[in-house]
Formats: sequence, structure tokens, C-alpha cells
Amino acid sequence: MSYVDRVLESVQSRYKDQPEFIQAVTEVLDSLRPTIDKNPAYEKAGLLERLVEPERAIIFRVPWVDDNGQVQVNRGYRVQFNSAIGPYKGGLRLHHSVNLSIVKFLGFEQIFKNSLTGLPIGGGKGGSDFDPKGKSDREVMAFCQSFMTELFKYIGQDTDVPAGDIGTGAREIGFLYGQYKRLTGLYEGVLTGKGLSYGGSLTRTEATGYGLVYLIDELLRDHNDDIKGKTVAVSGAGNVATHAIQKAQQLGAKVVTASDSSGWIYDPEGIDLATIKQIKEVERGRISGYLESRPKAKYTEGRGIWSVKCDIALPCATQNELSADDAKTLIGNGCTVVGEGANMPSTPEAVSAFLKNGVLFVPGKAANAGGVAASALEMSQNSMRMSWTFDDVDAKLKDIMANIYHNISQAAKDCGKNDNLVVGANVAAFQKIAEAMLDQGIV
Ligand code: NDP
Repeated sequence: MSYVDRVLESVQSRYKDQPEFIQAVTEVLDSLRPTIDKNPAYEKAGLLERLVEPERAIIFRVPWVDDNGQVQVNRGYRVQFNSAIGPYKGGLRLHHSVNLSIVKFLGFEQIFKNSLTGLPIGGGKGGSDFDPKGKSDREVMAFCQSFMTELFKYIGQDTDVPAGDIGTGAREIGFLYGQYKRLTGLYEGVLTGKGLSYGGSLTRTEATGYGLVYLIDELLRDHNDDIKGKTVAVSGAGNVATHAIQKAQQLGAKVVTASDSSGWIYDPEGIDLATIKQIKEVERGRISGYLESRPKAKYTEGRGIWSVKCDIALPCATQNELSADDAKTLIGNGCTVVGEGANMPSTPEAVSAFLKNGVLFVPGKAANAGGVAASALEMSQNSMRMSWTFDDVDAKLKDIMANIYHNISQAAKDCGKNDNLVVGANVAAFQKIAEAMLDQGIV
């Protein structure tokens, strides 16, 4: 049995209760087979066994009091996965579905994503099964303060720098930062995604969605095309989705969909972003409310967003939201480019269908790396006690996304797999991490 198969078998039997983690590890290791088979030094150094095991996983109780005076208890997580190329870096997800499997899958993906940015950041991820949806500001603050009261022991500007993710936006980062500062007395860049008045970076909020579109546009240009005039389907209505919609529209594309966990809208005239932002960021309401100001749009409860005819699909909501059937429908409708704004939104079967049918498919670890890249730029500014302008950071982001595309495209070509950007991304990311791990000895 090959080295990859043995490690995969061991992960599958040890972590039977962690399906998302197994899915992420399998996807990466499968595509690394030829690279790993070629280099016996990896096996000798137990590199894969070490790569799939987090350096540390912290699980903790988060007690807080709700507005009715009731004590609530949530579970907090921080998985510090791999620090071979820099301090752990990765977001905090606040959603009722969060469990160890999801945090480990996200942390594992993050190692590779962070490597692709070319910046010195390792991989980690965290969060809690607390859902800020429907909670008052005071309840969210009580939760965040309690969460940080445990987490602060394990993080720091040079050790582990968390950021936002699903459910963790500017409000949550503010409460978390305030509590960190109160507990440690340190005014340091320990979190990214901070408000502009206390060390945040211009462009960080926009970076994941903007970066996704920059990368897709670069890919199209490399294929003698561009995004202008294309019809784009976007899922989600959160941070990543809204900024992907905004940048795609700025570059002349027509975006016709958006969604939340209740359902999705199709607007044949093009999504009106101001309406989405009013519903999601101001009213914290449901996307069905979009029809009140845009009566020509259509709302559908539940799934089905990928049945819309489009040239480009950008899944920006959550993991496994795009199935093999969805992929077949998209392909049948003429979709030729898919870029993952979310982490692992396409199932493995959907990814195979895209690759088999010549769809240019960019996996999340490359396509959505703009957020963490801008976070690393925020860390640099904090260390230097400087603030760069929006245009400075935006230009750096654009460069980073173009570099990511060309690196993964070249790595795919080097493996003889032209345009297979899944292989390209995994191989390009792995080579840098593996080299650092080998150089640092058995740690
Ligand atoms: P947000 O919380 O801002 O938005 C998430 C959106 O997805 C919401 O509209 C939410 O709807 C929707 N959603 C959540 N679960 C489901 C579901 N099961 N079915 C359909 N829709 C769903 O999160 P982000 O935009 O920050 O994150 C989106 C994705 O992008 C995640 O996979 C995240 O890990 C990834 N990502 C985020 C980065 C960032 O910088 N924020 C960086 C890189 C990746 P509802 O309002 O109903 O919950």
C-alpha cells in the first residue's frame, strides 16, 4: 500500500466521526500522490502523519448569561494546525453547526491557503457552536467576552492571530479585541478584521470577495477573455458574497443571484447590492425581504440556486452547498468557470464533474485566499504601527491574487495537468510547507 493510502486509511479509521475533516484530507492527499511518491524523504520524515495531526486542539466551555437571566453554555474551539511557515492564522466561525470536524477541516485547508498567499503565516481555525443570529448586541458581547477569557491564553500577535469567518464580523471582532486588551493590557495586532479606528486595515472587509473576482478575472485573461459582460451566479449574502458581487459588478459583469440559509433570489435585472446590504448588514433580516423593493426578482425557498443559467458560478455561502447534480446542471447550462469563495462549497463529486467537463474550477484555498492575505497585510501594518491607504492594500491584494493564479496554473502544468487547478493549488502549497517542515526537523 502506498504511503498516501496508509496515511489516508489511518485518518479515516481514527476520525470516523469527523466527515468534513476526512473529506478535506482526502481531497488534498489524493491530488498529491505523484509528488509524494517521487520523494521518499517525506515518508522517512513522517511528514504526512505530522501534517494531518494538529499541533494543538483546544476545546473549552463558554458560559454566558442571556437577556432572560438564563445561563447558557457553548463550546469553544481553537485548532492550531501547523506553524511551519508562520504564526497560526485563520478565522473564528460562530454558527450552530460548528464542531471539531468542521474546525479541523477548516484549519487543515487554511494551512494550504496561507502557504499559497506567499506570506509567512501558518494555519489554524476556531469558533463555537454559538450562533449570533437572533441574539441581542448585549448577548453577543457577553458570549465574546467569555470566549476570549479562555482563548486569550493561547493567542498573540506572534503566536496565533484569529480573524472573522461565518458569524464573526466587525461587531464580534470588536468585542473579542476589547476583552483581549482588558485581560492582557496589550494593544497588539492579535486579531485581524479589526475596526479602522483601532488597527484595522482598509480593504480587509472587502478582500475575500474582491480577491476572488480578481483571481477569476486573471484566469479569464490568461484564456484570452475577461469577466466583463459575463453572467455570474453568486450564493450567500454575507461578507464574501456581497464583496464578490460588488467587484464583479464594478468589472462589468451581471450578477443575478444571492442567497441565505433560508432560500435564494434571482434578479434578471442584476442584483441590487444596496438592498442586500440593507437587509443583511442593517436589519439583519432574511433575503426574501429583497422582493419588497425589487418586485421583478424571484424568491425560492431552500435549494436550487445552481439551476440558474450563468457563465460563472461563485459559491460563497458554506461547505458542501454545491452537489454533483448542481454541477451537472451548471455544466448543462453553459457555465465554464467556477471559483469557490466559500471553503469547500463543492462536494468531491461536483469537483470531479467540473474537471471532467473542462470547467475552469478554482478551489477555495486559492480563490478565497484574499481575505487571509489582507489579514497578513493588517498584521504587517500593526507591527510597523502604520496604516496603508485603500489603494495601497487593494493593489497588493490584486498582485497577490494574480500571483496565486499563475503559481497554481504553473504547478498544474509542471504536473502535466494543464488547467487542473485543484492539483496545482495543492502541489504549490504543499511544496513550501513540506520544505519548511523538513528543514525544521521532527517537531
Ligand atoms: P457570513 O456569515 O458573512 O455569510 C455567510 C452567508 O452564507 C450568509 O448569507 C448565510 O446565510 C449563508 N449560509 C450559511 N450557511 C448556509 C447554508 N447552510 N446554506 C445556504 N446559505 C448559508 O460568512 P462569510 O461570508 O465570511 O463566509 C462565507 C464562506 O466564505 C465560509 O465558507 C467561510 O469559511 C469562507 N471564507 C470567509 C472569509 C472571510 O474573509 N470572511 C475568508 C475565506 C473564506 P444566513 O444569513 O442565513 O446564515
